[in-house]
Amino acid sequence: MIMNGKKGVILGVANNKSIAYGIAKACADQGAQVAFTYLNDSLKKRVEPIAAEFGSENLVYPCDVSNPDEIKALKDSLEKDLGQIDFIVHSIAFAPKEGLSGRFYDISKDAFDIAMDVSVYSLIEITRELKPLLSENSSILTLSYYGGAKYIPNYNLMGIAKAALEMTTRYLAEDLGKDGCRVNAISAGPIKTLAAAGIGEFRFMLKWNEAHAPLKKNVTTSEVGNSGMYLLSDLSSAVTGEIHYVDCGYNIMGMPATIFDEDGKQKIAWNGTDK
Ligand code: NAD
Repeated sequence: MIMNGKKGVILGVANNKSIAYGIAKACADQGAQVAFTYLNDSLKKRVEPIAAEFGSENLVYPCDVSNPDEIKALKDSLEKDLGQIDFIVHSIAFAPKEGLSGRFYDISKDAFDIAMDVSVYSLIEITRELKPLLSENSSILTLSYYGGAKYIPNYNLMGIAKAALEMTTRYLAEDLGKDGCRVNAISAGPIKTLAAAGIGEFRFMLKWNEAHAPLKKNVTTSEVGNSGMYLLSDLSSAVTGEIHYVDCGYNIMGMPATIFDEDGKQKIAWNGTDK
């Protein structure tokens, strides 16, 4: 199996709809030993049974990434229970609701600071704190979205955070390359998860992507999981600093050949005729 002998920690499972769950499953199915973290006590109850599903009931730790002490404690626990680790998954983002709809210029400094701290700086801090545990052939993966590269309605503050996260991925990749550690991001297409529920008009995003992506469907957590497993495995040993799109091809589109109405019926075709 591809991940036999690999050990790692996955931050960001909230439930079995989480992208992090898809990555954990793909890694565990391929033989990896996976440790999990949870944000708070109410999520602990959800994460524990998931960890048990993968034989990791003794590898579940608290970690609110806005609390540096919890990141330090995570390092100590992982060192005690796993020793060296081969991979880290950072599947975490948060922005106050006011930053995910309405006028962009209304974003407050407080909301901006929170989003950047939880969604971006946490990747740097986790990398620094857990680095002493990383093996000489290790891989770090984070999760981004197209709204960090191009304008997407309502994505607003999170778009700024994802742009910063993508550059953080590249700078970390250069910095850690000399230590044998790769750092990559997956830019996933929209998926209905807890975090996505905070984004205004998210159902419309799903419909739009399905209609306009070359593969004419939305991506699933298990598809993102498989691509994530590849980036964490030795199969991608020469890949670092990449923003890898797993979005059914949506990001390559400059212009759709067909426009659909709200019921999914074709409205305008490439020859410009209304249907
Ligand atoms: P999710 O709600 O399942 O996961 C988000 C996770 O972030 C949760 O586990 C939550 O507990 C955690 N989190 C939030 N604040 C935290 C904090 N202070 N400390 C520790 N953990 C914290 O949703 P998801 O969609 O699986 O999101 C995972 C990642 O994927 C995010 O970075 C998100 O932006 C990204 N992403 C999601 C989509 C999508 O459409 N769902 C698309 C592309 C990228």
